[in-house]
Amino acid sequence: MLKCTRCGREYPLDEPYQRCECGEPLELELFKGLPGIGRRVWERFSQFFPFELDLELSLGEGDTPLTKAKHLSKELGVRLYLKNETLNPTWSFKDRGTFVGIHRALELGFKRIGTVSTGNMAASVAAYGARFGFETFILLPSNIAEEKLKALALYGAKIIKVRGDYGELYYKSLEFGRDRGIYFINSDDPFRVEGYKSISFEIIEDVTPDYVLIPTSSGGLFRGIVKGFLELKESELIEELPKFVVIQAEGCSPICSAFYEERQKIERFENPHTIAHAIENPYPPSGNAVLRLLRKLEGLCVSVDDKEILSAQRALGEEGIFVQPASATSIAALKKLRENGTVEKGAKVVSILTGSGIKTLHQVKAPNVEDGELSE
Ligand SMILES: *Cc1c(COP(=O)(O)O)cnc(C)c1O
Ligand SMILES: [Zn+2]
Repeated sequence: MLKCTRCGREYPLDEPYQRCECGEPLELELFKGLPGIGRRVWERFSQFFPFELDLELSLGEGDTPLTKAKHLSKELGVRLYLKNETLNPTWSFKDRGTFVGIHRALELGFKRIGTVSTGNMAASVAAYGARFGFETFILLPSNIAEEKLKALALYGAKIIKVRGDYGELYYKSLEFGRDRGIYFINSDDPFRVEGYKSISFEIIEDVTPDYVLIPTSSGGLFRGIVKGFLELKESELIEELPKFVVIQAEGCSPICSAFYEERQKIERFENPHTIAHAIENPYPPSGNAVLRLLRKLEGLCVSVDDKEILSAQRALGEEGIFVQPASATSIAALKKLRENGTVEKGAKVVSILTGSGIKTLHQVKAPNVEDGELSE
């Protein structure tokens, strides 16, 4: 059964429902279980996923390292752990959700999948579409930079430019898909969200965090991680939930704005502008659902500006990890939370490093190069 995250209305599983008639996203009920043994997270936590996953078709998503940050832990006075999602097959956590989401399309008998994206989502869905032998449709806003298209070139997906910003395309794509028999595995599809839970399962195999920092755009990742921890608690595998922190870029922070103004609903963020393009959704489809979770679980919301983001990106480089600006936001936020005393000294903090910096090389300044002489 799929259930509305707002009104609780239920929908049967044999049709491709993704959103409630009230407009809000649907989700599966909480799973309970016990972890087993296995090399892959999909095996160890198989009781928590809605169907059996075909590991022969996996590209190796998930099971990423949780690296203790040496310098930043010391500098910030916390025990900071970095969940390194840059190591996924298409270099972002999106692959976890795509892998589960595409099984849903398979289960319903679709032969075509699609998504709406300008970057990481497009690459992920195009790659898994190829892997699973689907016909794949990627809808992109018409102002897309040529450079971003190149990351998609080799997977053989159909790439279609359409008018409208990301927020609009999301809703148009669901209609487009209904007319043409394409299952759109968009950013907060209920089964994509199920895939993101795997991050929470892997984290608690290593540490029980006090805080989890989550860069947030559409809200799918946040919802997935929270659902994972709720299921771990229901299953009595953890005693307490961590505090969940939504991180946004100041130049596009519809969720944080609503949170601080104590509104029940997000409003479209006008004239978004940030270097963190991967989290630049002015009208996130799970924005209201994230707000409800923040209120219910007493979570936090923090936004950071471009300068803070770039400085955090460099700090992560000094830990040996190259992330894209969107992923550095959580380190910038942690700095703020330590400075204003919200996060206490010695706290165990997990930061989700959502995607690789290799995808946004144009945003990095070339290093200084010295002239050298190797012979005497
Ligand atoms: C997609 C993405 C996010 C945000 O995830 P949502 O599910 O849209 O909230 C954060 N960082 C990176 C690098 C991403 O690609
Ligand atoms: Zn509803």
